Order: sequence, then structure tokens, then C-alpha cells
Amino acid sequence: MLKVSSIFYSIQGEGFHAGRAFIFIRLFGCNLTCDFCDDELHKTTMNELTFDEVYKKIQNFPSKNIIITGGEPSIYMLNDFIEFLQEKNYFVSVESNGYNFSNIKNANWITYSPKDWENIQNEGFDEYKFIVDKSSDIEKLINLKSDKEIFIQPQNFMHKPNMNNVNYCVELVKKYPDKFRLSLQMHKFIGVD
Ligand code: SF4
Repeated sequence: MLKVSSIFYSIQGEGFHAGRAFIFIRLFGCNLTCDFCDDELHKTTMNELTFDEVYKKIQNFPSKNIIITGGEPSIYMLNDFIEFLQEKNYFVSVESNGYNFSNIKNANWITYSPKDWENIQNEGFDEYKFIVDKSSDIEKLINLKSDKEIFIQPQNFMHKPNMNNVNYCVELVKKYPDKFRLSLQMHKFIGVD
């Protein structure tokens, strides 16, 4: 059984796959309580679904790309579920704050969005995504050594961009072109979920 908050079809607005149509499977619960969290559903809404019940809900969407998000997906052992989806020819990506990469290691793609910048991990995932505002300790990211792409993403409002933070991130990417890439939360610009 999976604890699911919502399933919907939209445009991936973040990171390497931004701009592609993805099926979003949002799981219930998180190990953290970030004050900038832009998702309420993972705290308030939970339906217990079998793997087959999830498949019934997603099979008519035209995309074969899935993002499992939350909340924090890696609080659950998800490798069997990921394999179940891959056997049905889905590309399965997972968004994680790095709680437990071994619980999601079967994924085709893992986005790691560290919240504790004092303890940044360096393996077990495919891309970094850091949420940035003007008070962020950018020196930590400038000094981060990695062969993985480092996306910086403005800390936006719940449903719309925060242009002060957007412009700040734009200038950082221009200043450090070999270090950072911009992740905008495109969905908040085009007004979709
Ligand atoms: S880790 Fe992500 S989902 Fe969890 S509280 Fe922080 S921002 Fe929200």
C-alpha cells in the first residue's frame, strides 16, 4: 500500500527535465518541516492505494514520465513500486531531500534537494537542486565540488514566482556559468499545478 496525497498530470517545472509533461505522484508525509515548504497536501491529504490502483489512475495519461514527490518519498521503501512502474515502461524519477537514497535507488533519475547545507551528500542521486533566496549561504554552493549539475531555484511564493529571488538566481547563474544552472519552477510562471 502507498500513502498517496495526490496524482495529477502537468508540466515538470524544475531541474533537468523542466518543460516535459510528467505524471506527478505526491506521497504523504515528510521527515522535515521547512518554513518555505510550498506543498500543503502532503500534510493534510492521504489515500491508501495499491500499486494497481495507482496504475489505474495513471494509465490513460499520454506521458510515460513519472515524478514521485512529496513530502519526502524516501521515508518509504519504494524500490518495488518503482520496479512495478518500470515494468510498465515508465521512466521513474524521484524528488528527495536525501533522507534515505537506498529506499529509492531503483529510480531512473533522482533529484536531490538538500535542506541542511551543513551536511550535503555527494552520491546516490543525479542532480542537485538548491532552493535559494538572498539570505542563502551561497559560498557553500560555490565551493561545492561535484560532477553533477547544480540547479539553483528561487524560493518562490506558494503559487507564483518571487521575482526578487528569481532575479537574484539569474544573476548568480550569469556570474558562475560553469557552476550553476537555473531551475525556475516554470509551472508557477505558466499557472499550472
Ligand atoms: S523537505 Fe520538502 S516537502 Fe518536506 S517540508 Fe521541506 S520543502 Fe516541504
